[in-house]
Amino acid sequence: MSQTFSFEFFPPKTPEGVEKLRNTRRQLAQFKPAFFSVTFGAGGTTQEGTLAAVREIQAEGFAAAPHLSCVGATRANVAELLQIYRNENIHRIVALRGDIPSGMVEFGEFRYANELVEFIRREHGDWFHIEVAAYPEYHPQARSAHDDLANFVRKAQAGANSAITQYFFNPDAYFAFVDEVRARGVTLPIVPGIMPINNFSQLARFSDSCGAEIPRWLRLKLQSYGDDTASIKALGLDVITDLCRKLLEGGAPGLHFYTLNAAGNVSTIWQRLGL
Ligand SMILES: Cc1cc2nc3c(=O)[nH]c(=O)nc-3n(C[C@H](O)[C@H](O)[C@H](O)COP(=O)(O)OP(=O)(O)OC[C@H]3O[C@@H](n4cnc5c(N)ncnc54)[C@H](O)[C@@H]3O)c2cc1C
Repeated sequence: MSQTFSFEFFPPKTPEGVEKLRNTRRQLAQFKPAFFSVTFGAGGTTQEGTLAAVREIQAEGFAAAPHLSCVGATRANVAELLQIYRNENIHRIVALRGDIPSGMVEFGEFRYANELVEFIRREHGDWFHIEVAAYPEYHPQARSAHDDLANFVRKAQAGANSAITQYFFNPDAYFAFVDEVRARGVTLPIVPGIMPINNFSQLARFSDSCGAEIPRWLRLKLQSYGDDTASIKALGLDVITDLCRKLLEGGAPGLHFYTLNAAGNVSTIWQRLGL
């Protein structure tokens, strides 16, 4: 089975950010990814930015995959956006519920991502390859691990083609999740999401909110470097390269890198892996 490699960006907010992302893309394009994905702000914060970024990617001749979150959206909003993407000849969507913005009380017309997947399939048949999110360490709002697995199965049954995981640092969590899902009859590829390590406090904050566990030994070691960013980066490269290697050797069907719009770490990891 061929492996799928992809890179994720967020929509830049300034002209300098747009230029930086162009440079990043130029550097990462040499690795011939299957697609570049672009995140989407739940509740509408970066929707224009997502569209602008995917248009640019498509115009450069690469496949773009916009993320689409449905929290707070109406069916009409989503239908309109899907039609725009289709007109841009986009064939891949990362379909999500999205994080509920603080203060939001109304969910909108979709409650969970499986409803969005169902909607896209119903309206557009097989035009879109639909990616969904997977959580090897379980989603922080899930009532239980069992419920979260049942939710993943619902997304697959609704018509998802493949999945990208939340990032994690423990490969066993990924392999155990894949086994659990396979035991439930789901066969779609589950590509690990990989977060390079640049900055400890940012990573710790983000990991706490999204439910990704930083192993104690790694947390303490990163913490002990304080402001020594070179050491943090060097340890990060070793740890993440080793993680990627274990995942690929264990049968992962590719890797999806959360680039944070920078090419440096990802390029080094890629080269060290000899991909
Ligand atoms: C690869 C990837 C890309 C991402 N990109 C973005 C992005 O661009 N923009 C953004 O805002 N966020 C993004 N996120 C974050 C994501 O939106 C959040 O994690 C969000 O909280 C959940 O989205 P989901 O699609 O996984 O939701 P869902 O699959 O709907 O699950 C959300 C929660 O609801 C629970 N649940 C599902 N169905 C039911 C039910 N019937 N009853 C009770 N509970 C239920 C699930 O167990 C889970 O806890 C991304 C995450 C990943 C892994």
